[in-house]
Amino acid sequence: MSDSEKGAGADFIRTIINEDMNTNKYGRRVHTRFPPEPNGYLHIGHAKSICLNFGVAAEYGGLTNLRFDDTNPSKEEVEYVESIQEDVRWLGFDWDDRLFYASDYFAQLYEYAVELIKRGMAYVCDLSADEIREYRGTLTEPGKNSPFRDRSSEENLDLFTRMKAGEFPDGARTLRAKIDMASPNITMRDPVLYRIMHMPHYRSGDQWVIYPTYDFTHCLSDSIEGITHSLCTLEFENNRPLYDWILDQLEVYHPQQIEFARLNLSYTVLSKRKLLRLVDEGFVEGWDDPRMPTLSGLRRRGYTPEAIREFCDQIGVAKTNSIIDIALLEHFIRKDLNLRAPRVSGVLRPLRVVITNYPEDQVEELEAINNPEDESMGSRKVPFSRVIYIEQEDFSESPPPKFRRLVPGREVRLRYAYFITCTEVVKDQETGEIIELHCTYDPETRGGNAPDGRKVKATLHWVSAAHAVEVETRLYDRLFLTNNPDEAEGDLDFKSNLNPDSLEILEGCFVEQSLADVSPGVTYQFERQGYFCVDPKDSQEGKLVFNRTISLRDTWAKIAKQNM
Ligand code: ATP
Ligand code: MG
Repeated sequence: MSDSEKGAGADFIRTIINEDMNTNKYGRRVHTRFPPEPNGYLHIGHAKSICLNFGVAAEYGGLTNLRFDDTNPSKEEVEYVESIQEDVRWLGFDWDDRLFYASDYFAQLYEYAVELIKRGMAYVCDLSADEIREYRGTLTEPGKNSPFRDRSSEENLDLFTRMKAGEFPDGARTLRAKIDMASPNITMRDPVLYRIMHMPHYRSGDQWVIYPTYDFTHCLSDSIEGITHSLCTLEFENNRPLYDWILDQLEVYHPQQIEFARLNLSYTVLSKRKLLRLVDEGFVEGWDDPRMPTLSGLRRRGYTPEAIREFCDQIGVAKTNSIIDIALLEHFIRKDLNLRAPRVSGVLRPLRVVITNYPEDQVEELEAINNPEDESMGSRKVPFSRVIYIEQEDFSESPPPKFRRLVPGREVRLRYAYFITCTEVVKDQETGEIIELHCTYDPETRGGNAPDGRKVKATLHWVSAAHAVEVETRLYDRLFLTNNPDEAEGDLDFKSNLNPDSLEILEGCFVEQSLADVSPGVTYQFERQGYFCVDPKDSQEGKLVFNRTISLRDTWAKIAKQNM
């Protein structure tokens, strides 16, 4: 395929790259980077950026760097550096030997700052943070020049050297670019390039007491690494002139910044600050709580990298912000697991059933299909015996209209087994609670079909009581009640926005014998109940915990159908 053909149907980013290839702007290279700040765990929004950066480069035979944008010592930690690498790998991407840290460029960035001062394009300013804000002006009014703006290069160099040497306290001075206090773009009103922070950095330790700002660091890091297309989210659109200004003033290699809309998901917050609050204030168990939209949470919940990548591909990139329905993400996880998750029987809320005409000591091995979507996954044997468990909700003594499942006197099918008929309901004499059912089975219906062709209205899942494995299951629901919790004014009021029922823990569930020996992280479909993943953290020898990844009902498919 020629480069111009790639343009057909391409999104706006690929269209730009195609043009650059045709005009040989970067020597026909495509080199992107994914630049997380190690101040939190990666989330599904980052996945969009990862898939885009690595995906686009791969399409053009290019390269992608992983770069930690670590210039703020107050929030960054090694724990985050490690989790980010693990998550990018898990998503299926590889940076080979191109792992970089902006903090490794501190010496070089300092030299660039000195160069700007020498060229008369930067100055040391003694205004406080509040004063800088006052002088900055507003969207409708121009700013005022700092009284320190016209210091000589010599004085600026002297002061900047002394800032670096630690002579001044935090906040006493800054290094600012000398651009234009009347610029209609507030970002261009003499932005701060360096600030004083007497704080050890998780990598450079006590070596530095001045730290470069994001704006100064990012463009120069891109330049140093020979990035061609620097893809970032829309909120940096106003910073692009500054990105270009710094590179132009220094006359260095000049990558191109391109902005795209960030991913927003309904019922989800994707701000690291808010996610950190959820963790710190104990609203969730940790960054990898299965209710979190973090990649580690989604992984623990049973989401697959394939499903996340397909979701990211399908939503594509756009120039305007929107909120994606979380049901779409859920649709892709169902689609993926439907093809690969083995079907098994798991009873979440068990009701004991004694099959009174079944021989006491008899056990039969019945054939069950592992995945109707994939014949190659074969079948397995499941044991059947006189006492089984069915789901409490599959029986009703006084059924509502249209209840098709088991009621006294009615016959239903046990999946892969027999037809049974309920003959007696046994209750606790004191509480009236149903303790067990007595049923009879029809031996002629082995495998679940009647030779006389008679039909039943329902097929129930079940497990043999003597063979079942007792497990804990955790059912998850949305963490937030509102469609757009990120929009909440000011600081998000977690208490009123959080769904109090986002986690339901069920103990005393029973799963079929074949699950006695399962591996952490593997996902099964419990028939009729959803997809369940073996919790890698809380499962231990003798105690299995299953996380429900997602229920079976695809609300997205339903919505899509209605809109057709
Ligand atoms: P912070 O709130 O700390 O600035 P951030 O979400 O911008 O966090 P970064 O670590 O700076 O986090 O993000 C790394 C990269 O991922 C950036 O290029 C950023 O634009 C991108 N990114 C972050 N959130 C999203 C999102 N919701 N959708 C798409 N890309 C995102
Ligand atoms: Mg950021």
